[in-house]
Amino acid sequence: MDLDTLRHSCSHVMAQAVKELWPEAKLGIGPSIEDGFYYDFDKIEPFSDEDLAKIEKLMRQIIAKDERFLRQELSKPEAEELFKKLHEDYKTELIHGIPDVEVSIYKTGDKFLDLCRGPHIESTGQIKAFKLLSVAGAYWHGIETNPMLQRIYGTCFETQNELDSYLKNLEEAKKRDHRKLGPALGLFDIYHEEAGAGLVFYHPKGALLRTLIENYEKEEHLKRGYEMVITPHIMRSELWQTSGHYDYYKENMYIFKIEDKEFVLKPMNCPGHILLYKSQTRSYKDLPIRFFELGTVYRHEKAGVLHGLLRVRGFTQDDAHIFCLPEQLKPEIKGVIDFVFDTMKVFGFNEVSIELSTRPEKYIGSEEDWEKATVALEESLKEKSLAYEVNIGDGAFYGPKIDIKLKDALNRKWQCATIQCDFALPKRFGLAYVDSDGKEKQPIMLHRVLLGSIERFIGALIEHYAGAFPAWLSPVQAVVIPVKPGFEDYVNAIKGKFTEQAIRFTVDDRNETLDKRIRAAEIEKIPYILVVGAREAQNETVSVRKRKEGDLGSKKLEEFTGQIKLQIKNRQ
Ligand SMILES: [Zn+2]
Ligand SMILES: [Zn+2]
Repeated sequence: MDLDTLRHSCSHVMAQAVKELWPEAKLGIGPSIEDGFYYDFDKIEPFSDEDLAKIEKLMRQIIAKDERFLRQELSKPEAEELFKKLHEDYKTELIHGIPDVEVSIYKTGDKFLDLCRGPHIESTGQIKAFKLLSVAGAYWHGIETNPMLQRIYGTCFETQNELDSYLKNLEEAKKRDHRKLGPALGLFDIYHEEAGAGLVFYHPKGALLRTLIENYEKEEHLKRGYEMVITPHIMRSELWQTSGHYDYYKENMYIFKIEDKEFVLKPMNCPGHILLYKSQTRSYKDLPIRFFELGTVYRHEKAGVLHGLLRVRGFTQDDAHIFCLPEQLKPEIKGVIDFVFDTMKVFGFNEVSIELSTRPEKYIGSEEDWEKATVALEESLKEKSLAYEVNIGDGAFYGPKIDIKLKDALNRKWQCATIQCDFALPKRFGLAYVDSDGKEKQPIMLHRVLLGSIERFIGALIEHYAGAFPAWLSPVQAVVIPVKPGFEDYVNAIKGKFTEQAIRFTVDDRNETLDKRIRAAEIEKIPYILVVGAREAQNETVSVRKRKEGDLGSKKLEEFTGQIKLQIKNRQ
């Protein structure tokens, strides 16, 4: 059975129940979505939790009756007439917008009718496992000047087991929500009223985590033949006019005037890297040139779409631009793919999903260039034996691209790496290199990010690990807990050792019970808890408790230090 069809059918059953309970409610639309379905209703009184329970109960009755989904074709005027009579204004409006002469409707039960293209399951009895989840406001057609409807979200699976495990994941996801865990673990906050919304403040532990990520990136990029560059945060409007951002992206840009000159707070790093490329004459022998920058960009996002670290107004990209010869395109793409996979592994993500987006209807550049670039992207994926989906016509107007999304511990996808070919910017800026025949030619430009927005990636990382980072990424790697006062000399010796070996530690010698202090360290998700008493001081050992694994017993301080150092070195 097709899950989308099942879920969409379940949305009909929900709407049928709502109409039976509140006949005055008007129907919006009710599609299936990635994890379930929704239906929009125009109803004055908001739906309460008790209402959702009532709706669910009635849905179960409709399912028990095993009512058939009956399809009927009508002419447009007939359908309009019908839904007008039912006072379904939104449906009438939808019918108006349908270009065909005939429309189809579906009926279930005695009187529930829905305008719908279908397909549907045969009868309501085929729905075995569903759950209504939440209610949210949603503007009709998503336009703020339209009426606000109430959207009920639900989900539906073929079996109760699948539904149960989905709901369990959902619970787990709530616990892992980076918007709660991040501030709770002292990593960041985004809630300074007087600073403005969507701006991230890293606290010391979060700044440390980010620095560790950035250090990995710098080291690896240099190893792989990238050159690090740093470009300004503000640049004049003229530059953004040349790049096209001023015309196509203006509503997302912060633009301001100083002494008659207009400046833009950079929303992207590409134009800066292009100016660097243009700063000297380039020969074919110089290519490929790979400029890498941890580039902080600012984009105006509407307040309504801001979301934790995932959608913010200022963020840093691990951004690189590769300028290359046509014959270098494929090896460069493959190099980036390898880099993406190596990086994902380092951060503990083992599963990805890949999408290739091809030429849209409106595009610039020659068909031949598009073909070459698309083939280069596609062949690179094939030669790496990677499975991918093709999104036909979904590329940007200036070039095709590969998106690599990573899957976290709860099997959710996170947008991360992008590899994009670009024919527009090299042309707009008149980029050139001198070829072996002495002629000036236009290089190919690749835009690519590995993690994408570092902020979003940190959000993903927090939820993937539920805040329990591997030792190499943990802001605090070990906590030393003396069982009682009196072992200061030995604790000082441990402090000296850890400081010298660059192990990040704290000492918890508060006047609290041992259990309480161990519990506090567990809540902080510190990988190692080292308990120290008379025996440990005597033998120069530590009693080690490892997160998740529990009590590892007593270890020589020297041995523990060696082990954790190795773990950190191996990025574990
Ligand atoms: Zn339908
Ligand atoms: Zn770019």
